[in-house]
Amino acid sequence: MAPYHMHRQDREITDAAEIAAVLGKGQVATLAMARDNQPYIVTLNYGYDPAEGTLYFHCANTGLKLDFLRANPRVCGTVVTDGAYKVGECTYAYASVVFWGSIDIVHDEDEKRQALGCMIDFLEPDPEPVRQRLLAEGGRLSGVTVLKLAIEGITGKRAL
Ligand SMILES: Cc1cc2nc3c(=O)[nH]c(=O)nc-3n(C[C@H](O)[C@H](O)[C@H](O)COP(=O)(O)OP(=O)(O)OC[C@H]3O[C@@H](n4cnc5c(N)ncnc54)[C@H](O)[C@@H]3O)c2cc1C
Repeated sequence: MAPYHMHRQDREITDAAEIAAVLGKGQVATLAMARDNQPYIVTLNYGYDPAEGTLYFHCANTGLKLDFLRANPRVCGTVVTDGAYKVGECTYAYASVVFWGSIDIVHDEDEKRQALGCMIDFLEPDPEPVRQRLLAEGGRLSGVTVLKLAIEGITGKRAL
């Protein structure tokens, strides 16, 4: 999408490392999709690979969001790291990002394993037992769909 200036430039996060830190701290992303002039939005856990600038998601093999993504893989999403409501100030502390990209459905078994490993490492404080349980060699991953999003554009904003 063409760049659009942020109205509150004093709140814009321009430092790439700070933007990456918001993605690194968040755990859930809200993804907006569109099909036939109809919007749809879902909240999903994600794993973040900062080296690749990639987000990974997992879900069941069927459902409305997959229908949307097959029709149109373009998405816009947001991740918010929660601050808190500032009582008496009628304001909320937050840092957030908005990102754009295209979703790829990952079919290759090894790539699925690597993506789920990224999610487990990202979300789990003690990933190894979970890796061993869910990603054991020879185990089938056919019951899970893995989505890959290469971030093409991202903006950051904070109100702290
Ligand atoms: C914090 C959080 C983390 C989540 N993490 C994941 C995740 O990692 N992976 C994952 O697959 N799902 C996750 N979910 C659930 C996700 O938001 C969707 O409900 C789920 O992915 C099913 O989407 P679908 O389009 O396949 O729905 P379907 O099962 O096809 O159902 C579609 C219908 O259900 C409604 N619907 C779908 N989801 C919701 C919802 N959350 N709330 C209210 N109505 C809904 C739609 O409006 C539509 O009418 C998470 C939800 C939350 C709140």
